[in-house]
Amino acid sequence: MADLGDPKRTIEIIQKYGFAFQKRFGQNFLIDPHVLDKIIRAADLTREDLVLEIGPGIGTMTQRLAEAAGKVVAVEIDPKLIPVLKETLAGYENVRVINQDILKMDIQALVREENGGRPIKVVANLPYYITTPILMGLFERHVPVDTITVMVQKEVADRMQAGPGAKDYGALSLAVQYHAAPYLVANVPPNCFIPRPRVGSAVIRLTRHPEPPVQVADEKLLSALIRASFNQRRKTLLNSLNNSPEIPFTKEQIAAAIDGLGLSPSVRGEALTLEQFAALCASLLKS
Ligand code: SAM
Repeated sequence: MADLGDPKRTIEIIQKYGFAFQKRFGQNFLIDPHVLDKIIRAADLTREDLVLEIGPGIGTMTQRLAEAAGKVVAVEIDPKLIPVLKETLAGYENVRVINQDILKMDIQALVREENGGRPIKVVANLPYYITTPILMGLFERHVPVDTITVMVQKEVADRMQAGPGAKDYGALSLAVQYHAAPYLVANVPPNCFIPRPRVGSAVIRLTRHPEPPVQVADEKLLSALIRASFNQRRKTLLNSLNNSPEIPFTKEQIAAAIDGLGLSPSVRGEALTLEQFAALCASLLKS
């Protein structure tokens, strides 16, 4: 099968199958071989690796993944792409295509079945409308993953890497950095896809921490604290936490915990580091 990274070949396939792009599935197919090379290099695959690809599209990246990894499991929601994938992936014996919604899949069970529960690598040009639920689902359900190398919206990549004080710093930065170390692989302009997305893109690699950088007795409370703190950005930390139905502590308990950290009563969530959120969590649990 000819290399699908060649835009002419992609257009041929799309015309042959009369394929109509569906916006609701976030379908923007990669047509730049150099970007594909960068993704494959950054994913650092060996023949020992099981790769989960989310949204193979017409199989452009799947072909490259199959050449570099031990096995590829590709999960695609759009049934119209399944016959296309049958053609483009014919001859690749180490690929399994599953026609399903990734958000409804039991990925733990898949990892057990396909890789004996050993950590997998996730590589994808993600459907942007569900980037956060996909990534947080992998992290919060403790799916065994080594690295996640994904194309995301540029703005989302910026948020994942931001630290306290930066304008992009928020709940996503903290949630991602609690679980993994982010590394920006490349910025990718809209003309590397068909159709062109209206936003810039970036490839980011998230390497899962062997142990989280902070220890907390209740991960769910830490997540709830982080979410609540950024829900109302212009409010103080005290008011944001007090207003949140997810936080089961009184205003007095919250005020005492903030004071105990040596922070001003008017501090905002965006000023706190991950370590400070963990300390706040510990202090509330003791109160
Ligand atoms: N990997 C291909 C490429 O790079 O050219 C396609 C990437 S495209 C940005 C996203 C793909 O994810 C589409 O093929 C789309 O149909 C698929 N997709 C969207 N929502 C999905 C979901 N919930 N579960 C699985 N696949 C999904």
